Amino acid sequence: MFKTTLQNLLPRQGDPRKFAQQGISLQGLVPIASLSRMVDAIEESAGEIQVDLVFGLSEEKKKIVTGYAKANVSLICQRCLSPVTVLVESNISLGIVWDEEHALALPEYLDPWIVGEGAADLYEMIEEEMLLSLPAVAYHQESCIDSKLLVSGTPVEVKQEKNPFQVLEQLKSSPK
Ligand SMILES: [Zn+2]
Repeated sequence: MFKTTLQNLLPRQGDPRKFAQQGISLQGLVPIASLSRMVDAIEESAGEIQVDLVFGLSEEKKKIVTGYAKANVSLICQRCLSPVTVLVESNISLGIVWDEEHALALPEYLDPWIVGEGAADLYEMIEEEMLLSLPAVAYHQESCIDSKLLVSGTPVEVKQEKNPFQVLEQLKSSPK
């Protein structure tokens, strides 16, 4: 793994409307540890989210940002309850709007990104998109539970409460 340097970090603050007017592209990394809700939702806060954003105008002349965010994140396998690394990839397609009302006017393929005047927190937007893309449940690809059972030894035998002979015996010995 390579080290995160200041050069390849995505800037945290930026004016999305200005970016859209200027047709700016941004590539960079977002450290997972800097996103508290993301940290809460996953097992390991190490690593980075790889982000590629293109700001611009849609056919309808709406200010938009498109691109992707992706990261390997550590989740809990719901079969064996140990960590499993999952690639989470989020396709970003957002219309930059002032409020809910403007959000309703967006074409269907755009989700709203509600932004006030001036600079916005790009990391917050990335975090939101990544949280929406986290799988509800994660599993190892291999049959992890089988290999665990093999390691722990012989499977437990289920004992019968009473065998039929014992029942017969009891019937014989019962008083007439
Ligand atoms: Zn597993």
